[in-house]
Amino acid sequence: MSKNKIIVTGGAGYIGSHTIIELIENTEFEIISIDNFSNSSELTFERIEAITGRKIHNYNIDLCNKEEFYSILENEKSVVGIIHFAAFKSVPESVENPYKYYHNNTESLLNVVEGCLKFGINNLIFSSSCSVYGNINQLPVNETTTFNKAESPYAYTKQIGESILNDYAKTFPQLKTISLRYFNPVGAHISGLIGEFPINPPTSLVPIITQTAIGKIKKMTVHGEDYSTRDGSCIRDYIHVSDIASAHVIALNYLLKEKNSTTNSIFNLGSGEGVSVKEAIEVFERISGQKLNFSIGPRRNGDIEAIFSDTTKSTNELKWIIKFNLEEMMNSAWKWENYLNETKNS
Ligand code: UDP
Repeated sequence: MSKNKIIVTGGAGYIGSHTIIELIENTEFEIISIDNFSNSSELTFERIEAITGRKIHNYNIDLCNKEEFYSILENEKSVVGIIHFAAFKSVPESVENPYKYYHNNTESLLNVVEGCLKFGINNLIFSSSCSVYGNINQLPVNETTTFNKAESPYAYTKQIGESILNDYAKTFPQLKTISLRYFNPVGAHISGLIGEFPINPPTSLVPIITQTAIGKIKKMTVHGEDYSTRDGSCIRDYIHVSDIASAHVIALNYLLKEKNSTTNSIFNLGSGEGVSVKEAIEVFERISGQKLNFSIGPRRNGDIEAIFSDTTKSTNELKWIIKFNLEEMMNSAWKWENYLNETKNS
């Protein structure tokens, strides 16, 4: 008998690849990936195989191409759920190139949702982001905090994404969805064999820190120290990517066991702790023994000043337990950067 399947879109990507590993290690599903490697590497699947012993079948298509996506769903029987990661995720790039973000992030989600309805796939997990909250005075934010204005096109695509799911859920209650609002996923798998692998120059803080330490980037910039925060730099809630990945397995089981009380459930995925850019740099320097070459620069367009998560709902309802602290996040990110350097996969 063929196994039930889960489709992971963006399976070669950073969170997608770590989630595939968690799914393999903790469920019986066959995992199918859809990824066009627009910001990831085919090597990821070899690395997943090295860690888990499992070969993953990937379809290399653009999810904005509805016909190609539908033909996959026609081909793959017994799909019980989709975890939809595939999206662009750089705040500064979205400010520079709004079309790329509005087009890709919304069109692909619409195709995924329509595909679910057409092919009777009733469980969908959507990668949302804490950026949906905008600049909020009252911290930490919980799932009922009212959104403020989106500070970037990227953030707005995530607000739109959640609205799309809410609207579909009202009209098509057979479709059960969860939106997971990621705070700042960082770090790498404990094996040191997979991690964040941006094809394009990174814009996220931790890959920039590790690439600066290894010498790929000569000097990094702290974007602003004139914010109203304890040291003037922005505050974020960093969370280990494997903790984020494990939350997807829990969320999937939650949907499959029909535990969601509303049709579109929302959960924050953060550690609950606010860490400034300068503090993150200090922790990295301490655990790696490397002095980072950085200077203070102007604020970055589209940045939120400070945000961190209230974790009560995800802890109580999902029973999600966070395993890794900030030191382990930095340590694993550094181990991964060294692996890339040694294997010349930079
Ligand atoms: N940041 C920085 N220098 C960099 C990259 C990022 O100071 O080279 C800051 C950025 O301005 C933000 C924080 O680090 O305040 C986290 O940025 P990231 O892009 O990782 O996450 P996001 O802003 O999307 O939460």
